[in-house]
Amino acid sequence: MNNYIECNLNNIKKNIYELSIKYKRNFSDITIVAVSKYQEYEKINTAYSYGQIDFGENYIQEWQEKVNFFQDNLPNLNWHIIGNLQKNKAKYLTDKVYCLQSLDSVELAKEIEKKGKFEKKLKVLIQLQVDKNDQNKSGISIEQAQILRDYICKSSKISFAGFMGIGPLNAETSKRKDLYYSFIQNAKTLWNETDSNNLQPILSLGMSSDYEEALECGSNMLRIGTAIFGARNKL
Ligand SMILES: *Cc1c(COP(=O)(O)O)cnc(C)c1O
Repeated sequence: MNNYIECNLNNIKKNIYELSIKYKRNFSDITIVAVSKYQEYEKINTAYSYGQIDFGENYIQEWQEKVNFFQDNLPNLNWHIIGNLQKNKAKYLTDKVYCLQSLDSVELAKEIEKKGKFEKKLKVLIQLQVDKNDQNKSGISIEQAQILRDYICKSSKISFAGFMGIGPLNAETSKRKDLYYSFIQNAKTLWNETDSNNLQPILSLGMSSDYEEALECGSNMLRIGTAIFGARNKL
């Protein structure tokens, strides 16, 4: 029934494999996050059965419903929260979150510090601005990111794992690549100023329509929704 999901996953992986050779990257260093917002439970089940481990959700309530639905039936599944999170929702973050990719303020970090319910530290990415002229204005500036980074590094409940960025909706390929190269450069600089113990940062950049460019520019985590699952039910 959902055969196309297997087919899409295989095609994307084959494509990434070929690009990783072309750009001299390690295929095994590249993670695909299957973005399952507004997608049916059944599709998540199907992707999981074909070996997909990492899934991304934007909305806390929808994510909670999915966690409740699957209970512990999909062991080892990693849930990534990739959508903007309001401060008053910090209390819903639990150990079921594998990574919060959309951390974008010290205020939110403080709220997580206060209200989050975890046994182990919550892995987070700082959502860094890709294009300061982008209308959506998503992500924070380098200066803000420095302050947030320093806060996270001292936190007892949050662990710093890298950066996430959302590219502009519309941009010519060459412009897009310029933005992505700077994003990766800025992220690495911010990372290298920390006591990172030679660990490499997660660099989460690229979606269905631009993951090839993102990969070329140095991304190691691609967040792919519609190219795996097809069109979403809402939006
Ligand atoms: C929805 C979404 C994606 C996936 O978008 P597609 O175009 O369906 O691949 C990736 N990242 C974020 C932050 C999203 O909100």
